[in-house]
Order: sequence, then C-alpha cells, then structure tokens
Amino acid sequence: MTASNSSYIGRFAPTPSGYLHFGSLVAALASYLDARAAGGRWLLRMEDLDPPREEPGAQAAILKALESYGFEWDGEMVRQSERHDAYADVLNRLFNHGLAYACTCSRKQLEAYQGIYPGLCRNAGHGQDDAAIRLRVPELEYHFNDRVQGEFRQHLGREVGDFVIRRRDGLYAYQLAVVLDDAWQGVTDIVRGADLLDSTPRQLYLQELLGLSQPRYLHVPLITQPDGNKLGKSYRSPPLAEDQATALLLRALRALGQMPGSELDDATPREVLNWGIAHWDAGLIPRTLSVPEAQLR
Ligand code: GLU
Ligand code: ZN
Repeated sequence: MTASNSSYIGRFAPTPSGYLHFGSLVAALASYLDARAAGGRWLLRMEDLDPPREEPGAQAAILKALESYGFEWDGEMVRQSERHDAYADVLNRLFNHGLAYACTCSRKQLEAYQGIYPGLCRNAGHGQDDAAIRLRVPELEYHFNDRVQGEFRQHLGREVGDFVIRRRDGLYAYQLAVVLDDAWQGVTDIVRGADLLDSTPRQLYLQELLGLSQPRYLHVPLITQPDGNKLGKSYRSPPLAEDQATALLLRALRALGQMPGSELDDATPREVLNWGIAHWDAGLIPRTLSVPEAQLR
C-alpha cells in the first residue's frame, strides 16, 4: 500500500468475461502509473455484472496476473455483483421521475434501426416487469476533452438514442454501474482503453443527471493489428504469461510512448513499475497504435 499525498484517485476495472491480455495490460499500466506518479490512490474493481458471460476462473486469473506483474492496489477490491442495491436505488429513482422508462421491444423489432433506439416505448407507460429499462437521452451533443484523444463529441439523440440501464433479464448495464461506482469510490481520473471513448458521453449525461462530479478522462490507444483490426477475442490475443512479466511490461511501457532503457531487461516487474512511476509522462502517449502481430507473442 502506497501512502497517498494527493487527491488523485484512479482505478482499474476489468470485466471477468475473459483473461487479461496485452491490451488490458496497457490500460492497467497507464492507469496505475498515472495514479502513482501523481501520488494518488489506485483502486481495483471487478466488473462482474454479467454472470452468464463470465469465464469460470477469470476473476482469480486476473488477480493472479496483476499480482505477478507487480501491481498493488489500495484497499479491498470492489465487486459490482455486491452493489446491486445501489444500482436498483438509482434506477428506481430515474424511473419514478420519468427519466427512464420500460421498453418491451424485441430484438427483431429493433433490427431495422442499426443500434440507435427510436424511442418506440417512450410514452407507452409499460411497467418494469419483463422489460428493459432505458434512459431518455436529450437531443444534445456532449463533448469532453480527453487527455490523449483530445476533443470528443457525440450527439446522444442522433448517435446513441435512449440506452439500456437494466436489461430485460434484470442485469444492470455497464453504463449505469460504472458511473455510480466511480462516483461512490471518489474516482477523479479515469484511464482506460479507447474502445470506451464513445461510451463516455452517455456517462457524462448520467453524471449530470445525478449531480455527480465529472472525472478527468484519458483513453489510451487501442492496440490494433497491422491491418487496423481491433485485437479482440476473435483475434485471440494470448492471456498474459506470468513468466513474461518484465518483457511485457517493458513492451507495454513502450506502447505508451515511454522510453525504458535496456538496463531494465533483467529487472523485476516491480522495478519496471517503479521506473515507470519515476519517469511517467502522459504527454508521450500516442493517439493510435499498431503492434505487429509478431510482437504480441
Ligand atoms: N469493465 C470495462 C472493460 O473491461 C472497463 C470499464 C471502464 O474502465 O470504464 O472493458
Ligand atoms: Zn421499446
């Protein structure tokens, strides 16, 4: 545990639908170094909202990987599966104020709209049972200044539509849980992968609606394949190997634009992290990144 001498609170929030891979390491490392270089706290939150999609053993494997890579988090890890009461509370408040409503549309009915919900149930007055709960979005553009990606804009009405905050099967949506938990944990700085850039305006709207303060954002570049495709499960980037910790941490540092020297090649993972904290410069992080396939192995 690191003594905290600033108001910075950061976090890493993995989803246990799979193992940590190189892209997750880059995000974890950036959030960790940004927090520690600022003298801040770094929290760990397991985003286990979706048990059917959870890979058995993934939570334990994620913790083991973080530990063997030398990461130390402050306080007890929080699990979203233990936070349902808090989510229910806010969801019911939004529903009772008419800011959210129940939607009974089938997937088939929505097929034609290309992911942007057209508001079919907005005024239907459905009850909550056997329905998804959607948040009404305003016909407004939201924008924020990302520390790496710069200005990002999105029109919630036109580009997103009323979005789901609780699924029809009763599971709470990431968008709601992440906003409530970041606020509850006092997170001041969100450092995460750029795949979540286009979720941020939804989260800004929720923060505004609930009177929560807005954290700073830093979205690290996604690691793409040489052909520009995202490294996803389809690509099957390998789980982080424990015996590769030093080498992969160095590679992740370089992916983040930092410049560790070859004298660190034989260092322990902890020594690499300490070098990273001492030399961290978020201004060097590139906006985009392509890693040749060979380097991922
Ligand atoms: N749980 C999300 C993920 O693993 C990250 C959430 C966040 O950092 O906001 O993709
Ligand atoms: Zn509907």
